[in-house]
Amino acid sequence: MLESQKEATVADRISYVNSNSIGIWDWSRPPSGRALDELMELNNLISSVCITDRPDAGKFSLDASGIFTTSSLSNLINALKYGVHSRNIALPRNKFVPQKVFIFTWRVIQLKIPVRSELDKKGIDLHTILCPLCDHHIETIEHALITCPKVSSIWAQILDWWNQNNSSISDINGAIISDHGFPHNAVGSYIWQATKWIACYIIWKHRNLKVFSNKMWNPAMLISEIQTQSYSWISIRSRKKNPIEWHQWLLNPSFFTAPPPNRMGIG
Ligand SMILES: [Zn+2]
Repeated sequence: MLESQKEATVADRISYVNSNSIGIWDWSRPPSGRALDELMELNNLISSVCITDRPDAGKFSLDASGIFTTSSLSNLINALKYGVHSRNIALPRNKFVPQKVFIFTWRVIQLKIPVRSELDKKGIDLHTILCPLCDHHIETIEHALITCPKVSSIWAQILDWWNQNNSSISDINGAIISDHGFPHNAVGSYIWQATKWIACYIIWKHRNLKVFSNKMWNPAMLISEIQTQSYSWISIRSRKKNPIEWHQWLLNPSFFTAPPPNRMGIG
């Protein structure tokens, strides 16, 4: 209010002398009273300001690059919200699953699946945060998809079906990221991974049917759906010259890359 030249710029009023910025003021009347306190505060603020001849620009100080992007802000919010549990894992593409399964899997590793514990973190008022299937443990993403007692038996059967009896799936990493099992068979490893992603997708689908339509399922029904659905999705995405036989898929899916001994067609 005391500035005599109302059009003056900040650069007009700051001079950089001996590594310090000082005010070159032009007041309409000498500051007094409270205005003097404000002037002292202003002098403090500008003492560390360095005016350059570059054009004015915005800088996003929360990112090292200084450039604002919605993803950098989103990552920052997630890091603050989920702390050490934040996952910054790149998910490799798997050509044997449909896009919707890939997106679901990506959301799992980003902890973006609306299980009750995640909704609770967002401040959504829920009647309970216990697992809707076992009603005994807090429903985290890992619990819902892997460790719930109602679900772990499904994984045991999937491992049995794939002749992976000496391994176990106990966490998200084992179900989604890890492609151990077929070190000398890249295609087999991809198909094993695709099967696990599809299993997670179907387990989540049935969890939702239980929550929203109160439809209960049994392990045999779920295993059957996982076998049928994964066969359907994977076989239409695999090379036509080496088709997967349905009976072989059920018997030992890890051998599907070898030519079938006799072609019985799809049962
Ligand atoms: Zn449970």
